[in-house]
Amino acid sequence: MTQPLGSFPGGLKLRGHKKRSTQTPIRRTPLAKQLILPLQQHIGAAAVPIVEVGDKVLKGQQIARAEGHVSVCLHAPSSGTIVAIDEQPIPHPSGLTAACITIETDGEDKWAERHPVKNFRDMTPHEIRQIIRDAGIVGLGGAGFPSFIKLNPGIHHTVDSLILNGAECEPYISCDDMLMRERADGILDGVEIMLHALSAQEVLLAIEDNKPLAISAMELALAARPHLTQTKVVVIPTRYPTGGEKQIIQVVTGKEVPSNGLPIDIGIVCHNMGTAYAVGRAINHGEPLISRIVTVTGTDVTHAGNFETLFGTPISELLEFAETKRQPDEPFILGGPMMGFNLSGDNLPVTKTANCILVGVEDAAQKAEPLPCIRCGDCASACPASLLPQQLYWHARAKDFDQTRDYNLFDCIECGCCDYVCPSKIPLVSYFRFAKTEIMNQERERKKSDLARERFETRQARMEREQREKEERQRQRKAALAASKAKKDKEAAAETSSAEDKEN
Ligand code: SF4
Ligand code: SF4
Repeated sequence: MTQPLGSFPGGLKLRGHKKRSTQTPIRRTPLAKQLILPLQQHIGAAAVPIVEVGDKVLKGQQIARAEGHVSVCLHAPSSGTIVAIDEQPIPHPSGLTAACITIETDGEDKWAERHPVKNFRDMTPHEIRQIIRDAGIVGLGGAGFPSFIKLNPGIHHTVDSLILNGAECEPYISCDDMLMRERADGILDGVEIMLHALSAQEVLLAIEDNKPLAISAMELALAARPHLTQTKVVVIPTRYPTGGEKQIIQVVTGKEVPSNGLPIDIGIVCHNMGTAYAVGRAINHGEPLISRIVTVTGTDVTHAGNFETLFGTPISELLEFAETKRQPDEPFILGGPMMGFNLSGDNLPVTKTANCILVGVEDAAQKAEPLPCIRCGDCASACPASLLPQQLYWHARAKDFDQTRDYNLFDCIECGCCDYVCPSKIPLVSYFRFAKTEIMNQERERKKSDLARERFETRQARMEREQREKEERQRQRKAALAASKAKKDKEAAAETSSAEDKEN
């Protein structure tokens, strides 16, 4: 075990509520009759279907291919028949629908042929990344960024530290805690593969000190692999939001990721514990990512716990399995109380990023009308990214988006610490999300019009060039005609003159 080297500014000491969901081992959610699989469960371009309605599929069979660079493949979580490829409601705060593939399961849960790798050390990092991409693996901490990209530091970077994020700082979520307790060895399988792909100098397994059983399980598993001399468990203080990528890096290494920069800029790569486990399954067992551990908890859940759930399983079935006192249209939270969002309909599928379903929050803040800002500065003191939320709020509210950028809006990790401490109950994070969406929309529009202008200018230049070439061809033709006429005239004149000479 090694000691953390730093800390981050602000943050909160929140009351933990993890006991409720950590009293029983991980359970398997029963196989649902229908699995609804959104084509986009990751950051980047949606996957493209490679199956048709009516096709029979096997568990683990690829059903959609990655599109473009930032994308991953999608697989059938169980065997059955494709019954629809259409728009379906997805778990999103706006109530959006999106393209999904629906599988009617046949109950056999029959696997497609799997191709485990015999010895990953014989593979190049590129080959490993390719398998991870094809296996559909994304960051399982909640963001859903394609993992193969984070396993490619590029030719200009070397990796000093690979950090495995086991902080899980949201007060109700415990899926990583349970995974570490029960499958520490499987996590280390993935860690070894990641280490091989990145050639990192050291590996730091960072776990908050409120998870003693997870810490001992990881240490025990590590002790059984004495060759992992560069790998250590780092026990870090429990403080929200330590699980944020920049925050955990600062706590564990004492290094700060620059504003607008990436961890790799300072020689660090960070992955979630669940992601490492998925990498191990993909390489050593040939299993793509088709399920995840979901925490189902809250004051209204009778059998709170952690459930290994196939993607596409309706949330309603998961809630039924855990038994809740929830009324059909009662809202619940997807994610934690700090960073999650409210959903009301439960006929929505479990996706790759669904780490927690929370029904009923203890000491939930009563809904209150926001009051004017009293400039107390509490939000700035609580901000782990050293931002000035009060200023950001004023500029976002005034739609002065250039100013929000100047105040580093995009460094905001939407942790909700500022909302939590604001005595005026101003929904600051909602303003920041609104400003980010507006800026990104403007950016998209600007790129679209730049592209249209570029296309117009290219077409214009091509037409002008073609006109010039046409004129040049005409000029050359005229010149050739004139030259040939002059030649003929000259020959005729010569003939006439020679005839006259003969007559004389
Ligand atoms: S939500 Fe953003 S601005 Fe508010 S405390 Fe977190 S990082 Fe700072
Ligand atoms: S905490 Fe709320 S009231 Fe205080 S400065 Fe920030 S926004 Fe204003």
